[in-house]
Amino acid sequence: MKKIVITIDGPAGAGKTTISKLLADRIGYRYVDTGALYRGIAFEALKKGVADNDDVGLEKLCNEIDIKLVLKESSLRLLSGDNDITDIIRTPEITMMASAVSARPAVRKYLLDVQRNMGQQKGVVFEGRDMGTVVFPEAEMKFFLDASLKTRALRRFVELGNGSVQSLDEVKEEMKRRDENDRSRNIAPLKPAPNAVVVDTTDLTIEGVVDHLFDYIVKKLKAS
Ligand code: C5P
Repeated sequence: MKKIVITIDGPAGAGKTTISKLLADRIGYRYVDTGALYRGIAFEALKKGVADNDDVGLEKLCNEIDIKLVLKESSLRLLSGDNDITDIIRTPEITMMASAVSARPAVRKYLLDVQRNMGQQKGVVFEGRDMGTVVFPEAEMKFFLDASLKTRALRRFVELGNGSVQSLDEVKEEMKRRDENDRSRNIAPLKPAPNAVVVDTTDLTIEGVVDHLFDYIVKKLKAS
């Protein structure tokens, strides 16, 4: 298949991660989870005691750290320097901190370069909030996945499993707050790109969405 950049944006729990991975596998593309990069910065900020509204501190932090996503034995790992922090960035504290620091200009600027560098080599599915609007406005194919808050919260709750420290209501509340932050921030707010295909996944299965996106991509590429 021709190598292009595919962007998949949308709120938390819309199915982006699962669908992006499956889609990338099916077409033989790389997959990049850009939310992990924001979580990596949140992790470092919390570790070093930098407040989420301390723009000077965050800028300094971004100049000092080296956050990157690498493929290890076909699994995407998040490295901060030499430390593999993939498995410790999904806590509620880091989730909310990621949402807060992602609204700050220094953080977005730092990650804009990191993400664009990763996109230089085409044949990649980028998942995030502003992939189609800001990071890759020229991307050949853009999707925006959405679903009702109730469905998204339930999916996340099930994903967290028995070990979850949060109740369903807490997950829902956190998701609502995070969505509000992401949609209302001044820089790179969460919204569909004007030329994105919007898919409501509320009543669809994962396989159904992947098939739909795959068929759309194949048809478009054939026509181009
Ligand atoms: O996708 P994930 O839930 O891991 O993202 C964590 C947070 O990172 C989001 O709530 C959002 O605030 C931020 N983010 C962003 N832009 C992206 C990806 C994630 O602002 N492209």
